[in-house]
Amino acid sequence: MGEFDLIHRYFQRPVRRAALGVGDDCALLQPAAGCQIAVSSDMLVQGRHFFPDADPRQLGHKALAVNLSDLAACGAQPLAFTLALALPDADAAWLEPFAQGLLALADAHGCELVGGDTTRGPRNICITVFGEVPLSGGRSQALLRSGAQPGDDLYVSGTLGDARLALEAIGGQWKLPPDLFARAAARMHRPDPRVALGQALRGLAHAAIDISDGLLGDLGHVLTASGVGARLDATTLATLLMCQGPALDAVVPKAHQLHCVLAGGDDYELAFTAPVAARAAIDMAARACQTPVRRIGSITAETGAKVVDGQGHAIRGRWPSFDHFS
Ligand code: ADP
Ligand code: MG
Repeated sequence: MGEFDLIHRYFQRPVRRAALGVGDDCALLQPAAGCQIAVSSDMLVQGRHFFPDADPRQLGHKALAVNLSDLAACGAQPLAFTLALALPDADAAWLEPFAQGLLALADAHGCELVGGDTTRGPRNICITVFGEVPLSGGRSQALLRSGAQPGDDLYVSGTLGDARLALEAIGGQWKLPPDLFARAAARMHRPDPRVALGQALRGLAHAAIDISDGLLGDLGHVLTASGVGARLDATTLATLLMCQGPALDAVVPKAHQLHCVLAGGDDYELAFTAPVAARAAIDMAARACQTPVRRIGSITAETGAKVVDGQGHAIRGRWPSFDHFS
């Protein structure tokens, strides 16, 4: 199978929303009137983001999911994506399920594959997504990191920390019961980008980010960009692990469970802030898109992030988030 056979066979599909898809030197996108284009790239590198024997179908899903998560964080509606792929060989047994996992998620979000690049090399998957965000009265409705205000509630969607638990179990740190491990591993392999929630938060949330490198680290970007701080409630944080419960407590110390929630990584949930007056609207938005959200603390004028216990006492700990170069 040559390069162009490969592209034609797995990645060339008719487009409906884009003006031109795969096959020419450029794709052409037609944003809806009154919309800005949101753009984001994420790369998955073998040996760094995934194991050489990773399931190709899950990898296809995850490669796009982590990109859609960035669109979600901005409140953008997915439009199209490009795929730059380095592969050691044209292996149909890998390409077929990879394309299936990738394109199934793309179809679920109406996000069209419109182009890319294909080259031989160590396995590397780089996707660029394009989304639409409406302008209102000339102002962008995109959710940014910079809008958090003192007094805002702080929320997260879904569950946190399970992907980290799975990774540690794979590394031999914990021996999780098989059903718990399967649930945690599913969180690691098949993140569910919160695209509907992100869009529902436009006009409600003051600031948002997606959690890819760990809650505290990613929240830190919001705090820095907004010039504010946050207080996080440890009692609520402890309930954010999907795998929580006696079976987990029997294997993983509580303090480490908190560590997974705060510094886990690979969660692809949204963290966002909103004024107290928006509580009812946030609950309604979350219910409308069937994505649970939890209030985990509040934004403070005093900078820095503090984790406090039920009595309001600060808990000391080191919860470093993931950094490729630290
Ligand atoms: P060029 O040489 O102009 O960069 P290529 O010959 O690399 O173009 O690619 C031919 C067409 O196939 C282009 O439209 C390109 O966007 C598309 N393409 C290449 N690789 C991929 C891929 N992995 N997925 C989707 N489209 C691809
Ligand atoms: Mg060209």
